[in-house]
Amino acid sequence: MRRKMIAGNWKMNNGPAAAEDFVSALEEWFASDRGGKRSADAVSSGRIEIVLAPPFTSIASAVAARRTNLIDIAAQNAHHKRGGAFTGEVSLPMIEESGCKYVIIGHSERRHVFGETDDALEKKLIATLESGVLPIFCVGETLDERTSGSMEKVLSSQLTSAWSSLTSDVIGEMVVIAYEPVWAIGTGKTASDSDAEDACDFIRTLAYDKFGIAASDSLRILYGGSVKPENSGALLAQSDIDGLLIGGASLDVEQFEKIIESAL
Ligand code: PEP
Repeated sequence: MRRKMIAGNWKMNNGPAAAEDFVSALEEWFASDRGGKRSADAVSSGRIEIVLAPPFTSIASAVAARRTNLIDIAAQNAHHKRGGAFTGEVSLPMIEESGCKYVIIGHSERRHVFGETDDALEKKLIATLESGVLPIFCVGETLDERTSGSMEKVLSSQLTSAWSSLTSDVIGEMVVIAYEPVWAIGTGKTASDSDAEDACDFIRTLAYDKFGIAASDSLRILYGGSVKPENSGALLAQSDIDGLLIGGASLDVEQFEKIIESAL
């Protein structure tokens, strides 16, 4: 049974004060009878994992605002070098020291707005796996790639490049993949449940072909792209979708709570 992950990616939103308010509100909800206690039990018993990815400058206040161990924190990006003359970058040891469990690698905005290549992302993935932080590695096709029928080719090449040097135990135990079709991110267009399931099933089959049954069975695959409380339950009911990576709806604590409840 794979542990479900509900992860919020705040992107460049929520400064330190807003991050503290959000985490405090979520902690209060976990202690409340408004669905919170049931959710807290699901987290404590290992059925669900809750992750928030604040911008770098809000990580410290999000970490400090936690009163329980129900919420894990992720960074949204990292440099692959451990330190040095890289102005404006943040290293994995710094991210680990700041209290993060996870780091998002290869989000579509990093690929398409900031020009991160498959080669650069392979380096980041390997460096993450050598650090004390775990990767949430994002893949996904653009609208042109989907309409021209090359979704599978794109996912395959993004993953083949990223995981070429990894081993089965690492893939099964340490890596989370997020399938995020670029055309569905921040656009209000969600992939249909069956399109999302087909893509996640395809990713699991790729993992099976390269790493075998045990690794592909334990690999967690998230869906991301305009997830809301109205569609989260149906997406989570798909057999190859093990969680959700949520942008816009993760900025509203009540919507985020409803999405958590839909995973129960
Ligand atoms: C994301 O940022 O990873 C994302 C999926 O955004 P949204 O939910 O807003 O589409």
